[in-house]
Amino acid sequence: MKTSSMRISKAAAAAAVAVLALTACGGGSDSDDTGAAAVNDDATFEAGTTMETLQKAGKITIGTKFDQPGFGLKGLSDAPEGFDVEIAKIIAAGLGIDDDGITWVETPSAVRETKIEDGEVSLVAATYTINDERKKRITFAGPYYEAGQQIMVRSDDSAITGPDSFKENSALKVCSVAGSTPADNIGEYLASKSQLVTFDVYSKCADALRTKQVDAVTTDNVILLGLVGDSDGAFKVVGDTFTKEPYGIGIKKGDVAFCNYIVDTLKKASEDGSYEKAWTETAGKVEGAQTPTLPTADACA
Ligand code: GLU
Repeated sequence: MKTSSMRISKAAAAAAVAVLALTACGGGSDSDDTGAAAVNDDATFEAGTTMETLQKAGKITIGTKFDQPGFGLKGLSDAPEGFDVEIAKIIAAGLGIDDDGITWVETPSAVRETKIEDGEVSLVAATYTINDERKKRITFAGPYYEAGQQIMVRSDDSAITGPDSFKENSALKVCSVAGSTPADNIGEYLASKSQLVTFDVYSKCADALRTKQVDAVTTDNVILLGLVGDSDGAFKVVGDTFTKEPYGIGIKKGDVAFCNYIVDTLKKASEDGSYEKAWTETAGKVEGAQTPTLPTADACA
């Protein structure tokens, strides 16, 4: 009984996928240039909302990272690639905006709130941990993913086993990014503040690790996994995660309607498979990365 109903539902699912594929080719939706998202040309929004403004404009400016493999990485092509990029495309697609309508702006950790406050970007999707300090300046929609802080070292290092190694040897230097939660969190694990070296972006930490200016890099596990994957075996991750980093989409403070739109759009994406596709085509390709399920969103405020 169970088996046959599973068979039916699998067949039904296959048929549904086939219909969707046909609709995508011939119908109003076009998913040509978006990885996971089908552009919704028929959405209607209340007048005066951010959604209506963006839909009418047919374009959106989005902040993301440009140097984080798996989440936001800009190579030789114009557009960055990664899970955050795909999540942002899903949000834009729901507003009827395709890839050509998106302008990507690099937003290193320390400038995310400022770029939102200044209206330079409509949203930030950039491995952006939801926390109370940041909520004083912006609103978060999410979480849409939960990461955790970890430590990365050179592959031939056996002395550093986790964050506790830094107190045991005060000569060790660890790199993180200014304005990030990991740069704050690591403080309690250090014998002296001078053990922490900060740059504006994580690729500079990876370079400093490679050239032995520092002994470790600390940030979210998934960012480190991306850097390990790109390191040709030079780096490895050690120890367990020791914080929780729930990622949210940053928007203008108090734009509750836009926040609710983002939460609803991501919920739909988790139901129709585009959230999972966004993952499997990006960060999910990195070894050791687990496919997530969309966390329950916080109330928008
Ligand atoms: N998720 C952490 C943060 O938002 C670290 C990653 C980053 O710097 O983007 O601060």
